[in-house]
Amino acid sequence: MTVSRFTHEGVPTRVVFGLGARHGLADELDRLGLSRVVLIASGSSRAEADALVTLLDDRLTWRVDGVRQHVPTQLAEKVTADAVLVGADGVVTIGGGSATGLGKAVALSGFSLVAVPTTYAGSEMTPVWSLTTGRRKETGRDPRVLPKTVVYDPELTFGLPPLVTAASGLNAVAHCLEALWAPGASPLSGPVALDGARTLCEAVPAAIAEPLDPKVRSRALVGACQAGMALATVGTGLHHRLCHVLGGRYDLPHAETHAALLPHIVGFNEPALGGLAARMAIAVGAGRASSGLYDLAVRMGLCMELSELGMPESAIDEVAAEVAGEPPPNPRPVDEAALKSLLRAAWEGEGPG
Ligand code: NAD
Repeated sequence: MTVSRFTHEGVPTRVVFGLGARHGLADELDRLGLSRVVLIASGSSRAEADALVTLLDDRLTWRVDGVRQHVPTQLAEKVTADAVLVGADGVVTIGGGSATGLGKAVALSGFSLVAVPTTYAGSEMTPVWSLTTGRRKETGRDPRVLPKTVVYDPELTFGLPPLVTAASGLNAVAHCLEALWAPGASPLSGPVALDGARTLCEAVPAAIAEPLDPKVRSRALVGACQAGMALATVGTGLHHRLCHVLGGRYDLPHAETHAALLPHIVGFNEPALGGLAARMAIAVGAGRASSGLYDLAVRMGLCMELSELGMPESAIDEVAAEVAGEPPPNPRPVDEAALKSLLRAAWEGEGPG
């Protein structure tokens, strides 16, 4: 078999993984020479952030509580200005993708970033930033926003509620599956993406059943890390593009939107994927990946109707027209009519066709 020409760029992030790993955070900052950091914490991570305040001691110079989804530009500018004012040399985030995202927006101004993720979003492994101004979500790649170190501590995910576990887990599966066919896919990224998808599809429902089981929480977090790596090295395509437009324009919940749309994008592409469709199905643990993902999401209690998540019916035509105007590369060619029917099915919550 000949191998087509490819380019692969790995992520140079240091990953520190383990139960209790957060207790080594101060050593990680010392290793990077960071002595005046700003701590950004999700509301849900307040207690853990309080503990980090003690742990970081005089390395901590400023603390920001309360982050918002989709990184509002105004909030990012305010936190960046505060970081400059207090003479910070780095940023530590603790929380989900929203906390990491705010940290990345600040890191765009040259601050070193260290991330302590508490969901399966995977943003901590990518050099991708996003900012939302008004109803428009803008994203870009910049090596400055890639965390220097990521500290994964599965104990921090024990309290992740079942529906957040489910939605965030499927957000990570979306990173893995789209990484199988997005333009940067290669023989080096494929195995990581497939293994990530398989790990997540097994561990995420198991974590819902046994939220305090360190083994399943660890496996799910490893899957999330693999998903972030796959996303970072391969890039994204139609699925992420639709989710970004929907999320930015209608303020839809990020992970839940990914979960509701994913079976439809996979179902749309399956006929064009050849043998990869079968490998995806094995990773998902179903006869067909698209219906397996839909059934898994429903079993985990997720809402599969984009209408219920806040998408207005008028968005079907608006978003289809916008994305068809500049369609991302996709295994099966996309046009406006195909996008409309796919979005309508997800809006109504039907299973994938
Ligand atoms: P989130 O950070 O908003 O977290 C979801 C909810 O879970 C919040 O209410 C949060 O407070 C709560 N939560 C987080 N950790 C918890 C814990 N351990 N216990 C209890 N509750 C907890 O959402 P998310 O899905 O993690 O991230 C979504 C954001 O990440 C979006 O803005 C998205 O654009 C971004 N993202 C970016 C990339 C990238 O590469 N740039 C990749 C994936 C996601």
